[in-house]
Amino acid sequence: MENTNVLISGASVAGPALAYWLHRHGFKATIVERAPALRDGGYAVDFRGVAHLTVLRRMGILADLERARTGVGAMSYVNSAGKEQAKMPADLFAGDIEILRGDLARILYEATRDHTEYIFGDSISSLTEDADGVYVTFERGAPRRFDLVIGADGLHSVTRRLTFGPEEQFVKHLGVYCAIFTTANHLGLDHTGHGYRTAGKLVAMYSSRHNTEAKAVFYFASPQLDLDRGDVARQQAVLTEHFAGNGWQSDRLLHDMRYASDFYFDSVSQVHMDRWSRGRVALAGDAAYCPSSLSGMGSGLALVGAYVLAGELAAARGDHRVAFARYEEEMRAYAEGCQKMGDGVASLMVPSSRLLAGFLNRYYKVMPYLPGRNLPAKMARRAAENIELRDYRG
Ligand SMILES: Cc1cc2nc3c(=O)[nH]c(=O)nc-3n(C[C@H](O)[C@H](O)[C@H](O)COP(=O)(O)OP(=O)(O)OC[C@H]3O[C@@H](n4cnc5c(N)ncnc54)[C@H](O)[C@@H]3O)c2cc1C
Repeated sequence: MENTNVLISGASVAGPALAYWLHRHGFKATIVERAPALRDGGYAVDFRGVAHLTVLRRMGILADLERARTGVGAMSYVNSAGKEQAKMPADLFAGDIEILRGDLARILYEATRDHTEYIFGDSISSLTEDADGVYVTFERGAPRRFDLVIGADGLHSVTRRLTFGPEEQFVKHLGVYCAIFTTANHLGLDHTGHGYRTAGKLVAMYSSRHNTEAKAVFYFASPQLDLDRGDVARQQAVLTEHFAGNGWQSDRLLHDMRYASDFYFDSVSQVHMDRWSRGRVALAGDAAYCPSSLSGMGSGLALVGAYVLAGELAAARGDHRVAFARYEEEMRAYAEGCQKMGDGVASLMVPSSRLLAGFLNRYYKVMPYLPGRNLPAKMARRAAENIELRDYRG
């Protein structure tokens, strides 16, 4: 086996899942994560269909995920006074397992920490490839050499920027921004969520961790903003500009936002690339093929991508030229199908006009009774299952 010493950038979903499989196949993974510790936060992510469940089962973590599932059921849409206007049963959109992203990241971390070197609070700053490997410099730590480098560092991947160029070439903003944070369950929500939609805005609250807390979620329509991703104060100011005086729980949640320890803010975007590798560097998860946080596909796709990438490296005995090409062959159509689930969702979730918002609020009232009510869930399952997984375990 060649190229066994692998650096992974990013410790969320794709990174630790890849480290898990690399270890199983006899590689040694090191993960560098920019955050000072494992990042909590985010709302729920879904796994659905045979491919996702097969990978989770083969990793031996399916039972852990089942224990940590959110158990959140129907979602109600309310008016500005909080009166229910429509109720969406969970089966209209839900997958097989819904789990908080932070819980998923923790389970993956626990499954890998004994055999993976984790470096928190650092980032790759340069990559120089030669015939034998990649010379990597870091913002803080001393330079090191690795055989291969995998960018699993999300939508704003530094590995992608250093290897392929500026993110504007690859990241497509879908016209919506999203903010999520943990807050008190002051509405006493019981395994449920409430959402309030107006033109260009959606604010919601879901109970989480068995009603002991809640997740506040804000979506708003906006062209791309010139915001520093590290500037939380500015992001919170933008959110306040959009939602102050918006009605329902908006003001209360904006107030609570200032005390949240896990504030997450990002654009709803997709990543489209002609290729996912160059030389000894490859990308996985959102860094390579982000389907958008509204597609309901990001974590499952990242998990399957990590499984295939590690498996192809093992099958090629570490020959990255063969493995990276095979990874793309196996994953390309699958990733594109999952990305289609994100198309058009942004403008439906957050319609820009009052007319459309009003229509949607009325449509949601009748939707649970329409014959095609399960169509979105069926389409999502079909996309999630559209891959024949090889068994690389040998
Ligand atoms: C805090 C957080 C909250 C999220 N909330 C939701 C949610 O509520 N709903 C949803 O559908 N999706 C959410 N997502 C996105 C979701 O996790 C991904 O779409 C999906 O799971 C694919 O995972 P990924 O590992 O490819 O990318 P991501 O989950 O985006 O993870 C990328 C990781 O790389 C790290 N990173 C970034 N830059 C660097 C760098 N320069 N050096 C080292 N590490 C770096 C990030 O801190 C992060 O840990 C969230 C992501 C994060 C990080």
